[in-house]
Amino acid sequence: MKFSTLAEYFEKLEGTSKRLELIDILSDLFKKAETSEIGKICYLIQGRVAPFYEPTEIGMAENMVAVAIGRAFNKSKEEVIKLYLKKGNIGLAAEELASKYKHKGELSVTGVFEELLKIAKFEGVGTVEKKVSTLSDLLKKVNPKGAKHIVNIPLDTLRLGVGDPTILDALSLAKHGDKSLRPTLEGGYNKTSDLGLVAETFFKKGTTGIKSIELIVGKPVRPALAERLPSADEAIKRLGKEFAAEPKFDGFRVAVHKNKDKISLFSRNLENTTHAFPDLVGGVEKEVKAESAILEGEAIAYNPQTQEFLPFQETTKRRRKYKVEEMAKKLPLVLFAFDLLYLNGRDITQKPYKGRRKLLESIIAKDGLVIKLSEERILHKTSEITDFFNEVVSEGLEGLMLKKLDSPYIAGGRGFHWVKFKRSQAGALVDTVDCVLLGVYAGKGKRTEFGVGGVLVGVYDDKKDEFVSITRLGTGLTDDEFRRVHEISKKLKVERKPARVNSDIKPSFWVEPKIVLEIASDEITRSPIHTAGRDKDGSGYALRFPRLVKFREADKRAEDATTVEEIKKLYSQQFNHRKK
Ligand code: AMP
Repeated sequence: MKFSTLAEYFEKLEGTSKRLELIDILSDLFKKAETSEIGKICYLIQGRVAPFYEPTEIGMAENMVAVAIGRAFNKSKEEVIKLYLKKGNIGLAAEELASKYKHKGELSVTGVFEELLKIAKFEGVGTVEKKVSTLSDLLKKVNPKGAKHIVNIPLDTLRLGVGDPTILDALSLAKHGDKSLRPTLEGGYNKTSDLGLVAETFFKKGTTGIKSIELIVGKPVRPALAERLPSADEAIKRLGKEFAAEPKFDGFRVAVHKNKDKISLFSRNLENTTHAFPDLVGGVEKEVKAESAILEGEAIAYNPQTQEFLPFQETTKRRRKYKVEEMAKKLPLVLFAFDLLYLNGRDITQKPYKGRRKLLESIIAKDGLVIKLSEERILHKTSEITDFFNEVVSEGLEGLMLKKLDSPYIAGGRGFHWVKFKRSQAGALVDTVDCVLLGVYAGKGKRTEFGVGGVLVGVYDDKKDEFVSITRLGTGLTDDEFRRVHEISKKLKVERKPARVNSDIKPSFWVEPKIVLEIASDEITRSPIHTAGRDKDGSGYALRFPRLVKFREADKRAEDATTVEEIKKLYSQQFNHRKK
């Protein structure tokens, strides 16, 4: 496929504000593409040249891109920037300049992809010059619309508004005629997090190919998630007569991938964080006894002298890009391992929890200082849950995770195989809600100073791949938090409502749904205004008296926010709670 054809599809995607149309446009695109291009197209749609978890970045800032555009079309950098400021978007500036230029030949999708990948891989002396000249040559070999979209890729400003589930729907529709294969495709995606790989396997080998996808060391697995239940009695009903209980550590989740001496770490939102935690990497080298393994644990700052767990605010200081060695000495982490997914060449996710735990115990050094096994107790009764819960809470931990003994590891799924029991928040609502920032209200009065007066947030409807509004938040933010929202929203502002956002309420401006905010509130109520979980009678759900607990941009993607299904459950649980 010629890149200009792909650029036409990008135009169509950009032009719609309806999610169903996104699916149709994408499906049409996949039908027209060669099988060998499908994977690359999946990455390009998301503005990437590799799966999102790979740290392959094009690495060009605005200035460098402006120089490349100028060089391609015989303009100075200043002229390009002037036009860019006038047009408000660097892509539109590139398009206008390209339209006055007769392009040389025309590259295919694969041709453009390979050039962009080349730019991402340059390193060492003369990198800047090589990147600029390769991009400028590339811009001369595509049409004006092509140039428009290409320059947005290095700057991460390609805003097509397409989420992973939408791509999976479109793949199913393109090859199968309807969307019924999305769950099958999701299965392959949950194991590898690699949309390109899933798409290409599907087009080459059909559903048989997808079903035979296994975990691959180095490709992050979408994490298993826990359900909430309002009482220990209800938990026992779900988990059976015998179940495991582990402390719920309030740190951050880390997935360790080890293949001989190559070790990678991934965060909860599947970002490669290996560089940030040299102490954990060293710990895995010494204390994990396996040729190859994928294991999961919670990293938490820990004082080995006093055996004290430090609060989340301390642990989270370790999430940084600079001075990582210095911080590793100041605030050492301990990784409490709680699950094993892969061992010595074998995907063991289908083994029951009990068996996986045994294998995990067999590969973690007994006297290790960095990698420790999470404590596990096999329990049977409500009173045992309460005792263990009180014990861990008094040690400063968050609560308990209860686990079903015979359950496989359910990648990418929330289910009753894991039940979380957290310290109850003040008020009736038993848990906080992870919301997605959808829009911003301009500041009035004192708040003009921050540029933000309040925000509109939503939750995620994973069936429809849509973000639906659930509350406005104004008074629950501190001055610093307002400033932070302002900084974030400047980068994510979009001209009109993104196609995947479904809201009747209009903020002053919309942002790309990307940032997750953890929000506490007193109660979930029914609401005619909000679209979260809206039923036939027009009634949705809302959060009453919302307050910001923390920004979760470092560990959750928008699609990891609380789902509409969870909101419905929380709503009914608070009723059960009150009846008691
Ligand atoms: P939540 O983020 O409240 O949905 O809780 C689930 C998170 O708890 C997981 O993603 C882990 O990061 C964390 N966690 C802490 N301790 C454990 C444990 N023992 N087993 C599983 N997850 C744990």
